[in-house]
Amino acid sequence: MDNEMILSFLAKSENESLARIAVTSFIAHLDPTIEELAECKTIVSEAVSNAIIHGYDGAYGMVTVHAILDGEVLSVTIKDEGRGIPDIESAKEPLFTTKGHEERSGMGFTIMESFSDEFRVESHIGHGTTITFTK
Ligand code: ATP
Ligand code: MG
Repeated sequence: MDNEMILSFLAKSENESLARIAVTSFIAHLDPTIEELAECKTIVSEAVSNAIIHGYDGAYGMVTVHAILDGEVLSVTIKDEGRGIPDIESAKEPLFTTKGHEERSGMGFTIMESFSDEFRVESHIGHGTTITFTK
């Protein structure tokens, strides 16, 4: 392992940019392409917004971003201790959303998965959700 970073913050939408900037700064010295940076930012944003909107749903718990750099491989976990996901396979389906009435499109997981080399979701009802991506 070459480098490691942990960032925890309250589940408020204004902290989404903090998470995005932290992860992109963490890999900046590797000279990523604009496209790689944009994809990384998008994955982090989607995961953090899911933690805030769905995991905590208005309650203020902590969201933790843990990034590890191993050579040129970035692994990031984004964790909440919110309500958890009842059925992960369904949740990952394109267009699946439990908040259709709030203009959610249900594309977050599909986008995160397509921009990642590896993508995993772990979740336990009442205990929270952790997503891991490598890129
Ligand atoms: P979009 O991301 O397009 O705005 P969305 O957030 O509903 O819409 P996804 O990000 O694909 O779509 O998530 C699908 C569903 O999985 C969500 O509607 C929600 O029910 C559930 N979910 C996702 N992340 C979490 C989480 N951290 N905690 C609890 N439920 C989650
Ligand atoms: Mg989403």
